[in-house]
Amino acid sequence: MDTQAVLTFWGCRGSISSPGYDTKIFGGNTPCITVEYKDQVLIFDAGTGIRNVGNYLIEKSKQRPINAHLFISHFHGDHVEGLPFFRPLYQLSNRFSIYGEGKDDLSFADVLRNRIKPPYFPVELDTLFAAGISYHEVCEKQAIVIDEDMSVMPIRLIHPNGAIGFRIQIGDLSIAYVTDHEHEIGRISPLLVESLQNTDILIHDAQYDREAINNGKQGWGHSAWEDVVDFAHAVNAGQLFLFHHDPESNDEILFERQRLARQARPATSIAREGLVVALPVQSKKLIRDDSSVAIDQLIRLSNALEFKKAVRKATLFSDNLGQESALLIIRIDDIMTNRVFDFDFSQSLAIKAIALQAINHLRMNPSIGRYRHDELYAYEDGNELAIILHDIKDPDNAQMVVTRIAAILSREFVVAGENVHLEFSIGVLNFPKTEAKKPGFGEHALQLQHRALDILEV
Ligand SMILES: [Zn+2]
Ligand SMILES: [Zn+2]
Repeated sequence: MDTQAVLTFWGCRGSISSPGYDTKIFGGNTPCITVEYKDQVLIFDAGTGIRNVGNYLIEKSKQRPINAHLFISHFHGDHVEGLPFFRPLYQLSNRFSIYGEGKDDLSFADVLRNRIKPPYFPVELDTLFAAGISYHEVCEKQAIVIDEDMSVMPIRLIHPNGAIGFRIQIGDLSIAYVTDHEHEIGRISPLLVESLQNTDILIHDAQYDREAINNGKQGWGHSAWEDVVDFAHAVNAGQLFLFHHDPESNDEILFERQRLARQARPATSIAREGLVVALPVQSKKLIRDDSSVAIDQLIRLSNALEFKKAVRKATLFSDNLGQESALLIIRIDDIMTNRVFDFDFSQSLAIKAIALQAINHLRMNPSIGRYRHDELYAYEDGNELAIILHDIKDPDNAQMVVTRIAAILSREFVVAGENVHLEFSIGVLNFPKTEAKKPGFGEHALQLQHRALDILEV
């Protein structure tokens, strides 16, 4: 039974995309997030991040028609520039409802048409897209009902040329998407305080800090993170995600911002491209940071034998279906932090964080192979994580997953509010067993391959 909604960040950068070596952790794509619940897919904004949403939806749909709702906050380039590169719009069988507000005398659809046409783009919007599209004008505070569980409330924001935010309600869970908006320094917007009381998840424009606003950015339509933190306190928000990062804010700046913001308000994270957050819908249990995001998929087994048996059973399942599978074992060798041992750091939190990184990756690349939620095992009091990939189309796929996950885990990331760097090893074993590829991921990789073999021969 579905009791969770899934929030995914596909682009968190404001103003202009900023890919590059020094933005690779928080990402360079412009705004786009998705909220999925049961069969519903809600997309917010069509910055460059929407291109990857398209690829994801096409993979996920497995040739079945895609139905989704797309909400546009406003027409500044960073919020609509990805639209022509959203592939599902080119497929005849797909259906989209697109929501936004018109400008002056023009309807919402006409403003979009004026943007996607020669000479700005080679083809006009109406001939470009084959999918069935309905355009909807939104009105402030008039809820759009998606189904009996879901609704979306548009909220007026303060931004040059206007913008709207959205409060999404799913059962008792609320998620607010608030970009681009300017709170005056030290004077948070009273109307927003009223509209966004008690929101569980608050995603909010925090492009600048107060110093930048005082030095020329006032009136540009974006907020200082210090005021956003105050705002989150004022509305009694759950988890806060600072969003719409300035193109000049590199990873180092954003990590420092996260550190400072968490001193003022621990339940605060810098939104990061690729971050997937699973949110329970029935209860109001809130997440507290990246690493404590509910990974209820992760099954903790209390001893090594249990661990072996569970993994063996899962690969047999694949065998019986005649599918090729692979077993990934990830082991933590060491955990390094800036502040050595001055906090109560537990290995199991790190395993959770690793699992989350791996799930994010697999979820965004379903063509590699499928994993089942109920088959993600950690060996409790140990330092190992087992991921079983079913139905891998190509034995090299498993090796590819290892390479990518190794690259992700090599970066510094946040566990329990601390920046950590992990030393780890990954072993992979394909089934049916193929010649071992050169391991090369951590010094113990070969040893872990044997470990995987040992587990499977229990
Ligand atoms: Zn923007
Ligand atoms: Zn804007």
